[in-house]
Amino acid sequence: MSTEAAYPMPPSPGGESSLRIVWIYPDLLSTYGDRGNMLILARRAYLRGMPVETIEVRSDQPLPISADIYLLGGGEDGPQALGAQRLIADGGLRRAAQQGSVVFGVCAGYQLLGGSFFAKGAKCAGLDLLDLHSDRGPSRAVGELAGAIDPRLGLPPLSGFENHGGRTHLGSGVSPLARVSTGIGNDGATEGAWRGKLLGTYSHGPALARNPALADLLLRWATGAHQLPPLDETWSDRLRAERTAALAATRQ
Ligand code: GLN
Repeated sequence: MSTEAAYPMPPSPGGESSLRIVWIYPDLLSTYGDRGNMLILARRAYLRGMPVETIEVRSDQPLPISADIYLLGGGEDGPQALGAQRLIADGGLRRAAQQGSVVFGVCAGYQLLGGSFFAKGAKCAGLDLLDLHSDRGPSRAVGELAGAIDPRLGLPPLSGFENHGGRTHLGSGVSPLARVSTGIGNDGATEGAWRGKLLGTYSHGPALARNPALADLLLRWATGAHQLPPLDETWSDRLRAERTAALAATRQ
């Protein structure tokens, strides 16, 4: 059975009433399955009966400012630096965030939401939407990433995969997303950051496939819903259980 037949999705209807999800710069920022974050959000919204429009905006195109959710993926240093320059010049993401849109950044996309980051040995300006900055660590952080998420978000533990050279230092204007139990994340102690409806993580995997409750948090932030109808979580539960078992096996 094809994926399409097993998981039918409606054609993107567009229009004012749709939940609009923008994937920013797939030509520059998309590693380790980050595209899946858009697919998971769209699918989980669709299963709750929400009309969804997904919009992929390449780095030579202007960013629409009226979308509900903006997604940024990971990237190598060069594309990350170029993506940050273009996003700063565009100005749309800042305006969207100021208007209350949800922004979700992964790895390079997380780092560039902060004040600055390092790419190819040079300090680069970020969008300064989150009170954090990134420098380089002593080694590359590669492997599984897991930890308990900020209890105020009411989510089960984070599960993911990381691959980055940067280390991220949080200011007082943001809260860590999670306390690290496996992996490095920001600095070996905390992982990711959030403030308001802006959230960043080092977790690939893609993050929202491995953490469907996090996808639902973004959907709730975007729609204002306090709660969403439950979905069949058989496959995501299996994936999470398999990853948890794999981590436990490496600790023995
Ligand atoms: N280039 C960044 C770093 O190495 C981000 C890497 C990534 O997005 N996976 O820290």
